[in-house]
Amino acid sequence: MIVILKQNPNASQVSHLKTWLESKNVKIHESVGDSHIILGLVGDTSKLDIDLISALDIVEDVKRVQEPYKNANRKFHSEDTVIKVKDMQIGGGTLTVMAGPCSVESEEQMITVAKAVKEAGATILRGGAFKPRTSPYSFQGLGAEGLELLKLARLETGLPIVTEIMEISQLPLFEDVDIIQVGTRNMQNFNLLRELGRQSKPVMIKRGMSATYEEWLMSAEYVMASGNENVILCERGIRTFESYTRNTLDIAAVPVLKKLSHFPIIIDPSHATGKSSLVEPLAMAGIAAGADGVMIEVHNDPEHAWCDGPQSLNLENFKTINKKLISLHKFLKSEEE
Ligand code: PEP
Ligand code: MN
Repeated sequence: MIVILKQNPNASQVSHLKTWLESKNVKIHESVGDSHIILGLVGDTSKLDIDLISALDIVEDVKRVQEPYKNANRKFHSEDTVIKVKDMQIGGGTLTVMAGPCSVESEEQMITVAKAVKEAGATILRGGAFKPRTSPYSFQGLGAEGLELLKLARLETGLPIVTEIMEISQLPLFEDVDIIQVGTRNMQNFNLLRELGRQSKPVMIKRGMSATYEEWLMSAEYVMASGNENVILCERGIRTFESYTRNTLDIAAVPVLKKLSHFPIIIDPSHATGKSSLVEPLAMAGIAAGADGVMIEVHNDPEHAWCDGPQSLNLENFKTINKKLISLHKFLKSEEE
């Protein structure tokens, strides 16, 4: 971090600032120019509040030369993070396929979908019990009952389950869930993230619909800073000027986040497009770009789904598409060897 001081700063304020910075465990390289003094800060500057320093009387400008996230940063954590869920791994060259309905509707629906996606090669069962809906009049999810139905489907198929949490008070209900999902609307619910960092279950953070890579990684940083290293990122499309698709899938997020951080990355082509016909090409593109897996909405009767039917694949289509995804992943792995 570089701190540029205003011309002719008050000497005692400068000395005060330097003492304070040193107390934060950073080394200072001072360079005195004709018009300005520049302080080069070396060490872990991630805990320094750039806004606070910028607001000081004697400070003209502050520039970061290092990312504000440390735990999430590939520079400080060169190995890929591999998440263990039961006897499987997410990341580390494996292909993770999370599949299931947008929302849990009934026992029959859950068991039917769970059995079908398992048979088609999915590795994790998804289903929302607490649904963040744009309208308060839309179906809000079955809540605790939905979680029980997910667990029943897990018992029936052996598939681990991933499901969305919306607020801290729900956490006790998630004790027996395998992966806790933080949805796009909660990506910057910092209190929730901090609390999820205090427990050890894997947390999948979906990208906020208008979040930059840095903001997204700072959310991961929250979870890690509270002690939980089991973070997965999910790119689910962002808001752009294009309205043909529900969102715009940012494929570049995969290679960029692989470079900046060490987390497994999942692509969600369902929420990214809102259209079932676009799920296959975008899922393929995500895997081709190096994603560790996909999250796909699948329903036994998409036309009558209580939520997100137009983007849900039916059981047959999921089977066909997943076969292609598995082949593509195998091909890419063989090319690497
Ligand atoms: C979901 O996965 O069910 C969901 C609501 O997704 P998102 O948070 O990406 O909109
Ligand atoms: Mn959905």
